[in-house]
Amino acid sequence: MTNDINWNFDNTYSKLPEPFREIIKPIKVKNPNLILLNKSLAQYLDLDFSGLNQSELSALFTGNELPKDCNSIAQAYAGHQFGHFTMLGDGRAVLIGEHTNKSNKKYDIQFKGSGKTAFSRNGDGRAALGPMLREYVISEAMNSLGIPTTRSLAVVKTGEEVIRETSLPGAILTRIASSHIRVGTFQYIAARGKKDELKVLLDYVINRHYPNLNSSQNKAIGLLNIVLEKQIDLVVDWMRVGFIHGVMNTDNMSISGETIDYGPCAFMDIYDPKTVFSSIDQMGRYAYCNQPVITKWNLSRFAECLIPLIDKDQDKAIQFATQIINSFEKKYEEKWLNMMRDKLGLLGTEEKDKFLILDLLTWMHQKKVDYTNTFCHLMNEKIIEDKNYEDKDFQDWKKRWNERLKTNNNTPEKFIKLMKTVNPLIIPRNHKVEEVLKEAELNNLKPINQFIEILSQPYTKNGDILNYQIPSDLDEKYQTFCGT
Ligand code: AMP
Ligand code: MG
Repeated sequence: MTNDINWNFDNTYSKLPEPFREIIKPIKVKNPNLILLNKSLAQYLDLDFSGLNQSELSALFTGNELPKDCNSIAQAYAGHQFGHFTMLGDGRAVLIGEHTNKSNKKYDIQFKGSGKTAFSRNGDGRAALGPMLREYVISEAMNSLGIPTTRSLAVVKTGEEVIRETSLPGAILTRIASSHIRVGTFQYIAARGKKDELKVLLDYVINRHYPNLNSSQNKAIGLLNIVLEKQIDLVVDWMRVGFIHGVMNTDNMSISGETIDYGPCAFMDIYDPKTVFSSIDQMGRYAYCNQPVITKWNLSRFAECLIPLIDKDQDKAIQFATQIINSFEKKYEEKWLNMMRDKLGLLGTEEKDKFLILDLLTWMHQKKVDYTNTFCHLMNEKIIEDKNYEDKDFQDWKKRWNERLKTNNNTPEKFIKLMKTVNPLIIPRNHKVEEVLKEAELNNLKPINQFIEILSQPYTKNGDILNYQIPSDLDEKYQTFCGT
């Protein structure tokens, strides 16, 4: 049955030498039942599931029935988790293959929650329904916000219970990524201390993600530079929409520059740079304002892995790598400033822009106002009433902003148009996420489907959205969990 879907599988990663992966099949589940299927993503992938009934789809998206060309694997990787180095790997995920769509784009098709592997350590290899639905909703919202991310094709209930603090319904998420290669993948191979294996990984990554680097004089330096740029762009995008990843361990940092691993992530409502939602992040290592610093820290770990490939002379290699890593701050600040200029509709660059931007952020912080809604207010979008916007300091700030808006041939049409491309009207607010997940767990899928639909057009008024713009009153005490 699965042969008419248009799978176009290749299994290049499974052909890499033994230490890179374990060949393993997903472990069958008892009673699969499809909950969500992402039709527009299927269409983008040129996959046609229309000929399959509910039970065939359920069997497909759990791996109970595997496509004929797949050669499934669990990938090996390591990672610094909250700063501590650990050997990890896909402990509850199986990559069933790499599918290429008609535009010649290759994507990993991975089942998350598909049973134990050689890398499961003490885990059960399974996932609970709530966190898999959460990943589906937020990763798709991120994609609609125009932020590079892994995506979600389907969620299937397994018909089995998973034991966490309580017994929960089990589920499998089908995750799509341009690859699942992480900084941690390099760390795993580098820790084995064999330069030839590291070279295999470098060449694989370059051929798969950055083929232009094949002609560069020093491929390892080329890769470090490009991953640094990609990661800066990514974190600037996160800062733009108030996204807090929550667990920026090096194993959750993709070489392709996509957001990956939606465990404890959440969006900030009230602007507070120190916001942390994750229950396990006691020290605030991954707080909103620390995300750029941690990105640099993670890139430094990546650079360390590449040292043997950068130059035979280790001192020289370290010098080259350090130089690249040290370019982070300047590049980040420039990209961040430009992103904030866009959020305020400013054209060109002026010396004083930084102060204008920082003064607005400081005001938001002091007054505890909503980050997303403040930019909606500045775009004259109707939002729920907030008396804070009548505040004298804010009015004074607006006068300065208005003066700045008059420069560089700007016009209201131009600045509003620009602002609308970067300031979302809606984000997946925490209380809404909780609300729709709770309903979905009670088998009412209408709210989650509605929410996914609303979030698919975050920059345009897509029906009555006021209800989705109300800041969470959960915020100050809201906590997220890793969902393991
Ligand atoms: P994460 O927190 O999802 O980034 O996972 C960190 C590591 O723990 C990865 O190696 C996962 O595969 C592994 N892991 C998480 N949950 C489980 C589980 N239930 N069973 C086995 N391994 C798991
Ligand atoms: Mg992870």
